[in-house]
Order: sequence, then structure tokens, then C-alpha cells
Amino acid sequence: MMGGTFDPIHHGHLVAASEVADRFDLDEVIFVPTGTPSQKESSKVSPAEDRYLMTVIATASNPRFSVSRVDVDRKKITYTVDTLRDIRAQHPGADLYFITGADALASILSWQHWEELFDLANFVGVSRPGYELGDEHLADYLDKYPPGALTLIEIPALAISSTDCRKRAVENRPVWYLVPDGVVQYISKRQLYGTRAQPSSEGA
Ligand code: ATP
Ligand code: MG
Repeated sequence: MMGGTFDPIHHGHLVAASEVADRFDLDEVIFVPTGTPSQKESSKVSPAEDRYLMTVIATASNPRFSVSRVDVDRKKITYTVDTLRDIRAQHPGADLYFITGADALASILSWQHWEELFDLANFVGVSRPGYELGDEHLADYLDKYPPGALTLIEIPALAISSTDCRKRAVENRPVWYLVPDGVVQYISKRQLYGTRAQPSSEGA
């Protein structure tokens, strides 16, 4: 499974999921968009339903990709341990892998019930431009993971972030080829990020 805000989902997320699925021979990758954050932060994040739908659009063509609503539908604040418990309950006996970018590896150790997380899933950290796996700073807290709890893998580097995609949309600069075509069109249709119309890409 791969959790994220997915505001919007982009090709960095999709390559990470595809590479980990290939490396570990996974049957399925379940994308889990986060629910609506606490009121204070909610103005900064697009509605959960829009983020969920963009994730569905982006993953629809891959038979091994699916999207879960567990966090979107949860009434209370979500902790990753809740998500993992829910996915585990829906897939009894499955060997779970939790996919995360290298930038998120530090924060996992501060998550609620982080010790239990490692009983629920294998953690896989993927390289991300700006957060290289050999980084000294990263090495400092990697030592804190229990032995065998985390595997690091190098994936093709895509210097794409949702923050940059949102900024581009606000400034009416292209997000074509950073996110799947259907997601470009969805952003424009729903006028997410204050966009009116996206200039079309060549030939699209
Ligand atoms: P934002 O800029 O809003 O934080 P983001 O691009 O970091 O967005 P998230 O939804 O925060 O996307 O990320 C979900 C997961 O995907 C995280 O584990 C993150 O580390 C990972 N991830 C995001 N972009 C990449 C990328 N380009 N390469 C590898 N992993 C990525
Ligand atoms: Mg992020």
C-alpha cells in the first residue's frame, strides 16, 4: 500500500508504486489517499473526494493498482496504524508492504504506535530527488529502525512534487506529463488550485 495526500497524484507516485511492485513481486498496490485533515489545515488541502477521484483516474489503467477509501471515509483523525489495521482486516493473511518516499522515513518514527507498524507491514523506502538514500542525515535515523523492518530501494529519479504541480496550476504553467493526462483534465474541470483553463499540450 502507498499512502499520500495525492493533491494531486503525479508520476513520481506511480513510478514508486510500480517499481516496488516489480521488485517485491507484489500482487497489488493499494493507494490510500488521506482523509480531510483537521479543520485548521483543511483550507490548504483539496477536498478528499477530489483527491480520491484523481487517484482513481491515475491508476485505472493498471490492473495491479487499486484505491482504498478507508482514510477518506474515516470520521476521525487517521493514524497510519489505523490504515494498516484496516487494510490488514480486509486482506487477512496478506504480506503487507508500506511504500514511502525517502523524505517521509524520518517522520515514521514519530507516528503513533510506530513500534506496532513494523509488525503490521514491511516498510519500503524509495529514493526521491533531494533525499538520496546514501545521505548522511538519512543514515542517522535509519539506524533507529528495528533490524529488517525497512528496505531501501533506488528508483528512477522523478523530480516531481504535488507542491510544484499545484504551484504550476495556480500560475497557469503546464502540469502535462508530470501528472497523467486524465488528472490534468480533472484539475481543469474542477478548477482545483484556482485554475481556470489549462492550455492544451501539443496535439492533446
Ligand atoms: P506534497 O508536495 O504536497 O507534500 P508529494 O509530492 O510529497 O506532495 P505526497 O502525497 O506527500 O506527495 O506523497 C505520498 C508519498 O509519495 C510519500 O511517501 C512521498 O515520499 C512519496 N513521493 C512523492 N513524490 C515522490 C517522488 N517524486 N519520488 C518518490 N517518492 C515520492
Ligand atoms: Mg509530501
